[in-house]
Amino acid sequence: MFRLDGKVALVTGSSRGIGAAIARTFAQAGADIIIDHLAQPAEAEQVRQEIKSLGRCCLVVEADVRDEQQVASLFTAIDDHFGRLDILVNNAGIVFSEDIFSTTLTNWTETLATHLTGTFLCSREGMKRMRNERGGRIIQISSVVAHQGALRGFVHYAAAKSGMLGFTRTLARTAAEYGVTVNAIAPGVIATDMLFDCHHEEGVRRMEAMIPLGLGKVEDVAAAALYLASDEARWVTGTVLDVNGGLYFH
Ligand code: NAP
Repeated sequence: MFRLDGKVALVTGSSRGIGAAIARTFAQAGADIIIDHLAQPAEAEQVRQEIKSLGRCCLVVEADVRDEQQVASLFTAIDDHFGRLDILVNNAGIVFSEDIFSTTLTNWTETLATHLTGTFLCSREGMKRMRNERGGRIIQISSVVAHQGALRGFVHYAAAKSGMLGFTRTLARTAAEYGVTVNAIAPGVIATDMLFDCHHEEGVRRMEAMIPLGLGKVEDVAAAALYLASDEARWVTGTVLDVNGGLYFH
């Protein structure tokens, strides 16, 4: 169950954190992997070595998902190396710890560009390949804040993560005609660099106390991505899978 043998998967932002866990999990399930990242070659290389040790092919590409030209080059590299793409995970993300008064236009624009423009540019290129293959999977990594808003500040991040859900639902309708499913995962609080970069230890402990099942692990999100990427999820599209330890539910 939930095998990805013979599939080729691109995970954006997979040099570390949730993206790296998804890349490893997909490789364990039999997929060949493209690691995309921004500026951490040593970490990306480490993930590549782990994937190679699982007997899978792995290509590392440094491509900024905000940049149309770099995204085009990323997909050309995939075409040259693998000749196909079956799974795209739009995971690359950034966050700035700011409230409405301190949020700069630059950081607002950077946040929307990374999460929303990046998702759009990669999905457009991914859809072209998947249309040719008459099948595929697109998975966005959104956030619980898309549903409930952030507790304080982070208006750019919440706006971007909510936008990813509208994008997902709309693309799902078009993509169905080509046998492509489009879904999102809304993780809660996951222990990664991103979390500890924008919250001090005490803040993280306070958040942890609010989550019935405690803090999440990157593997919790990776398991959800594996399900959505699998053949078993063929009839699931346009939906959001909440992976948040009970922090929020509908
Ligand atoms: P992370 O540890 O900070 O990793 C972020 C990844 O994104 C890195 O691989 C980074 O590459 C890459 N990246 C950033 N900007 C990029 C760009 N413009 N182009 C290409 N790659 C880029 O973050 P994380 O916690 O794993 O988060 C992954 C995703 O999950 C994000 O979309 C985040 O919003 C979402 N999420 C996280 C949490 C959480 O609690 N951690 C909760 C909900 C949702 P480099 O290593 O090269 O910098």
